[in-house]
Amino acid sequence: MSGSIGFCDPTTCVAAGCDAVVCVGKGIASNERIFNRSAQVIPGGVNSSIRAFKAVGGTPYIVSRATGAHVWDVEGRELVDLVQSYGAVILGHAHPAIVAAISAAAVDGTSYGAPTAREMKLAEAISERVPSCEMVRFMNSGTEATSTAVRLARGSTGRDKIVTFHGNFHGATDALLAAGGSGVATLGLPGTAGVPKEAVANTWVLPYNEVPALESDVAAVIVEPVAANMGLVPPAPGFLEGLRAECDRVGALLVFDEVITGFRLGLGGAQAKVDVRPDLTCFGKVIGGGLPIGAVGGRRDIMSNLSPIGAVFHAGTLAGNPIATAAGLAVLNELNADSYMELSARARRLSAVLRDACAAAHVPAQFPVFGTLVGMHFGSALNGRAPSNFDEAKSTDERLFARVFHAALSHGVALAPGAYEALFVGLAHTDEVIDKIGERMMTALTSAARS
Ligand SMILES: *Cc1c(COP(=O)(O)O)cnc(C)c1O
Repeated sequence: MSGSIGFCDPTTCVAAGCDAVVCVGKGIASNERIFNRSAQVIPGGVNSSIRAFKAVGGTPYIVSRATGAHVWDVEGRELVDLVQSYGAVILGHAHPAIVAAISAAAVDGTSYGAPTAREMKLAEAISERVPSCEMVRFMNSGTEATSTAVRLARGSTGRDKIVTFHGNFHGATDALLAAGGSGVATLGLPGTAGVPKEAVANTWVLPYNEVPALESDVAAVIVEPVAANMGLVPPAPGFLEGLRAECDRVGALLVFDEVITGFRLGLGGAQAKVDVRPDLTCFGKVIGGGLPIGAVGGRRDIMSNLSPIGAVFHAGTLAGNPIATAAGLAVLNELNADSYMELSARARRLSAVLRDACAAAHVPAQFPVFGTLVGMHFGSALNGRAPSNFDEAKSTDERLFARVFHAALSHGVALAPGAYEALFVGLAHTDEVIDKIGERMMTALTSAARS
């Protein structure tokens, strides 16, 4: 778009049938036009409901391209990006190593329906870095990973009951889309229309950061070892250790949903950081370098229950996809212990600049940091403390967040459009980029406070 003001880019033109190199007038791409036209053919104009601006109001910006820590919308506006595909692009957008890997892979074919050496290498790379993952099976999303882990846990134990935690998110898996009541142990009710009560009849939703007493009918406890879908809520001391001990006591499997934390908190994920070894681990996001992927890894004896060697069915036309596994290998090759030291320092720096900007504008907010992850919580309900469970996380001031979100966006900082998302700092967020975020937020919030 840049350099072609008044003309439209054929790839973003919204005029019906326009394929001209220069198309003046009606077809000029605007966020509003593309979004409205999308909404005619795509429900809500989005393919993942969290991308809609429902929680904050307004029209989503439509991305035309991205590089490093920046995205550009179809109107040519540059945004510093803290969404980073909800954490999937830890190296930043369009990282040269990823682009080279997928370009090279693509010319050899995009999917075969037969095994490849690349799948083997990526499984080995994960297994070497995450010792609990003696074997790994690939699929196409985090959602598929959690649904496979649930089936595998049930098939391996011969039990049906699954324990989950309030405020944890495990993707769009029916059995895990259960809504619990508040504060107390509750049998799950469907968390959305379209999930029959039978699908969650064996799902229990318990308060995060409290070790439950399990019964011997539990197949698995599935948990975000560091919760990053209710703002950022780290595990309380003893919580994960307690889950491990309870699972061992009753013969249940402990499943860590590391779709966000895997290869984001460190090479060994959250499990290395907290030193608790799960039986199964779900991956997604980072391990695909921005391409669709998911994986379940775990104990050899349990993983051996997957078909074709075991009785628990799993299959996927595109599972272990050559392009996605090429991107995954490229991203793991780029990450080492130093990367995470660097990311942790940047996470602390981001938290500090956001805290300062909010303080200057008298916006009550917390930006808790756990390793490389940064959360946010708005309002004074917790008297300046960060939340430690879902009830506390829910006390965030959503309307205040919406105001901060729009002030940020109008000054060129893209936050995810939801008050409960984490902030994703990647290797493209240099100190200069983070300081630019700080300056933009300072201007955004102080001018919003004055108006
Ligand atoms: C994103 C996410 C999922 C779902 O992954 P998709 O690839 O979006 O299906 C599952 N669990 C956690 C913890 C996540 O953050």
